[in-house]
Amino acid sequence: MNRVPDILLEWYQQQARTLPWRETKDPYAIWISEIILQQTRVNQGLDYYRRFMEAFPTVQELAAAPVEAVLKQWQGLGYYSRARNLHQAAQQVVSLYGGVLPGSSEELLKLKGVGPYTAAAVASIAFSERVVTVDGNVNRFISRLFSMAEDPLSARGRQEIVTLASAMAGQFSPGLFNQALMEFGALQCIPHPDCEICPLKNYCEAFRLDLVSELPVRKKKMKVRDRYFYYAVVRFQDQYWLRQRGAGDIWQGLYEFPLLETGSEIADFSELASALETLFSSRGSISLSSCSEVYVHVLTHQKIHAVFCVIQTSETPQFIDNNATPYSFSEISELPVSRLTDRYLHSGWINP
Ligand code: SF4
Repeated sequence: MNRVPDILLEWYQQQARTLPWRETKDPYAIWISEIILQQTRVNQGLDYYRRFMEAFPTVQELAAAPVEAVLKQWQGLGYYSRARNLHQAAQQVVSLYGGVLPGSSEELLKLKGVGPYTAAAVASIAFSERVVTVDGNVNRFISRLFSMAEDPLSARGRQEIVTLASAMAGQFSPGLFNQALMEFGALQCIPHPDCEICPLKNYCEAFRLDLVSELPVRKKKMKVRDRYFYYAVVRFQDQYWLRQRGAGDIWQGLYEFPLLETGSEIADFSELASALETLFSSRGSISLSSCSEVYVHVLTHQKIHAVFCVIQTSETPQFIDNNATPYSFSEISELPVSRLTDRYLHSGWINP
């Protein structure tokens, strides 16, 4: 086993991908990249990272930006609380730390949205702190290398991973070693790996015991909840009404058409028309002209079935919750919206 760190670092020097955040020691840039990559594949995250750094090159510029501008840059990446937290954390850095990111994982953990993984990644890469980073890729790799019987997501499993990885890291450069661990999990020890070409196969317990496909141990998956969204795309002259989503559910702070959520599917067109008309009133005529196909949008523990219905009114509509604001079609494209709404807007269902 004591050859493993050397082999791992040798592999990393030869195989690591060239990525912009690996060519800097700027803690701000590393922090942004780590937050983007939390739930996003590197290929997709790369473009977002470049655009985000172009829009907000410093923590001061991020802190001073309106949250809508930050959400707009994030549009399509999902898990929007990451963007809101980044924005708030940037304001914390400016107001509490004089605009300089704190240099230890303990202090970094005090920033909004910064958990143990991100704090460890920034502190080890930018400040060479001896702390290991544990993400899903590291969990998978270490679980297999040592044939762990614990679920790495449990408290005991996590502790075991930290202990094993710390022992392996030894006196190597912490940032380099952490990146090698994560990259090995991301590129070589993938969910269905080719162990025959693995430089660590002679040291891997899971390979020796033929347990690669069984590890890491996982608890039962959470059940996926089906949700049924019916959007009223209300049009009067050249305006459409949208509202901003509130706290306590998905997509907080993003804009969408007024929504009716139901516990089951509404298949009948006239029933749907009546249900949508409960969202608003108008002194003039109201006509539901068309409804989209069903858009299926899958989130971590939710499956959303969404239908968008275009409704024409002959007078200004009044919305029941008073929360909807009129926008022209071109103004809508400036608003931060969920990927679901974005798919609809680009589908051509609305003809401005
Ligand atoms: S031998 Fe297979 S399971 Fe073991 S570390 Fe290599 S890729 Fe992962």
